Formats: sequence, C-alpha cells, structure tokens
Amino acid sequence: MKKSKKIIFANWKMKLGLKETFDLAKGIKEKFKDFDNGKIVVCPNFVPLLEVKKILKDSNIMVGAQNVFWETRGSYTGEISPLTLVEAGCEYVILGHSERRKFMMENYEMIHRKIKAIMAVEGLTPIVCIGENWDERKTDRRDFVLYDQIQQALSGIDIAANQEIVVAYEPIWAIGSGTAIEPSEAEYAHKIVRLTLNDMFGMKVVNENFKIIYGGSINSKNVKSFTGLEDLGGLLVGGASLDPEEFYKVAKATLI
Ligand code: PEP
Repeated sequence: MKKSKKIIFANWKMKLGLKETFDLAKGIKEKFKDFDNGKIVVCPNFVPLLEVKKILKDSNIMVGAQNVFWETRGSYTGEISPLTLVEAGCEYVILGHSERRKFMMENYEMIHRKIKAIMAVEGLTPIVCIGENWDERKTDRRDFVLYDQIQQALSGIDIAANQEIVVAYEPIWAIGSGTAIEPSEAEYAHKIVRLTLNDMFGMKVVNENFKIIYGGSINSKNVKSFTGLEDLGGLLVGGASLDPEEFYKVAKATLI
C-alpha cells in the first residue's frame, strides 16, 4: 500500500445546529476549492451527515463520523452501524474520543470492538484516539498509559494490505484548552506510539498501514511549529475547524 499524504480531520463535535453545519460545509468547500495538497475530512454529527455529503459533492473534501457501534445490525437502540456510515458516504470514523471516554464511559474494550467492526467493513477507516490526562502526565505515567491504550485497542486486530488505521495522539489536557503541547513533547509521544505499534505489528505494516496524527488546540498560530515533526501524519482539529478561514490556514500550513 502506497503511503498516502497527510490528513487533516475536522471534528465539529456537537458545536453546531443543522443550518450552522451546512453553512460551515459550504464555507469550507468554497475556501478549499483549489486545494489538492492533501486529504481533508470533516466530521459532523449524525443528523447532518447526508446533507453535508451532498454539499461536498464535486470537491476533494471527505466526510467522517464521530462515533459508530460495534455491531452491524440489530436491537441496539440509539446506535449507528458501520454499514450505515458507509451507505451515507463516510470514509473515516473517530473512535474513543476523550469526550466519549469521559461522558459516555467508553473504554478501550469497547473501542477495540468498534475497530474490529470497522475493519470488517469495506471503505471505513478508524481514527483511534489515545492520550493521557493531566494527572498521568504530571506523574510521568504517560508512556505506560499510551502503551496500554494501544495494546487494549489494537491487540489481535487483522489489517489487510489495503487498510489504514489512524492513531490520533490527543493529550486530554490540551484538548479545547487553547494551548497545544510543546511540539517536542508530541514528537516524543508519537515515538512511543510508533515503537508500541512496531512491537505489535512489525515495522513494515506500521510504515505502510498506520498514520499517527496529533490533536489538541491546534490553530493557525501554533500549527507551524508542528508541521516539521518527523512523525506527523496529520492533525485532528476541533475549535479551529469551525471557521473556514482559520481551518484553511491550518491546512495550508500543514499540507505543503
Ligand atoms: C479534539 O476535540 O479532538 C480537538 C483536538 O479539539 P481542539 O482542537 O479544540 O483542542
């Protein structure tokens, strides 16, 4: 599998109503109309997904989801199947975002089941979120936390030659704080992620099938200090993706 270009994901969380979501999708489509340097994926919540997909027709911008269930069909009230996401035109799905771990009690056993379900469905790529909280960072437990999260999420997952897995390193204490971590610290964490994955899957598979990205308060002002990082496969962007101009600046600086 040929290593693809960097990817930028926009996580719109539950920040927008329907009209606001459609306006943002239109604004981003317009702003990025001549942009083909890398992949851009926007992740609205479920209800506006189909309309956003329609709005982004004839553009290079892809659509992702913010969550999925681990079964494909059945009595699971309120959940959404990976097959439905594919039908709706989604190509990526964010898994185990720290906000879901915090508010929905999602754990890495559940995340593991979701990854398994996605890998069994053609056309969907998981974005697996990992990252330590402030207490773990402060007490020097970060390396173990990352190792443990990756092990729980990905042990025993089969990866076909043409499949990709995105691992998003998102230190919880940086998300939505307005201040990204030191780029050198992100670089160090990415090394831990890569070494752990190498141990589990071997270097060849990791080089060809994995992408490691950073997320946590990236904006147009701090993005340049991250773009040169050795192991940066892309970014997961929250707040800065809610304004087309700001998001464009982040993308332009990253996807040179
Ligand atoms: C996120 O929610 O994944 C995120 C990175 O948010 P923000 O950029 O706002 O910190």
